[in-house]
Amino acid sequence: MSGQKPGGSFTVCPHCAAVNRLPADKPASEGRCGQCKGALFDGHPAEVDAAGFERHVTRGSAPVLVDVWAPWCGPCRVMGPAFASAAARLEPDFRLLKLNSDAEPELSGRLGIRSIPTLLLFAGGKRIAQHSGAITADQIVAWARQQLAHAA
Ligand code: ZN
Repeated sequence: MSGQKPGGSFTVCPHCAAVNRLPADKPASEGRCGQCKGALFDGHPAEVDAAGFERHVTRGSAPVLVDVWAPWCGPCRVMGPAFASAAARLEPDFRLLKLNSDAEPELSGRLGIRSIPTLLLFAGGKRIAQHSGAITADQIVAWARQQLAHAA
């Protein structure tokens, strides 16, 4: 995979943001954080702030799928459970994050977010795709895998 760094695969803990090396001899889905002992992949999107977002995108080896949302946004609330369900299916091949655009307006501006919900897909630290508007869990899973295949 193009985003991999020499010396193995890395992932950022969704609980404490520590960077963990994934053991090559065990499935990533069973990995636990060396710092907080939490599951590195627990099938749930990780809520991130701007610092957490940067860390996941730049330090993790797996592609990162971000749901940019806000609490007042009806379609965002509709897509929330679909995104959570997609996390259970896409991990550990992808890392799924939720970014509250109201809490991080500076980052949302820098990312050029014009409407929410917006899905952003990053691989190798670069944005490779984005999609605006609420879609179902099946559509999220298919879209993320397709976009990654096209970018490879
Ligand atoms: Zn941790």
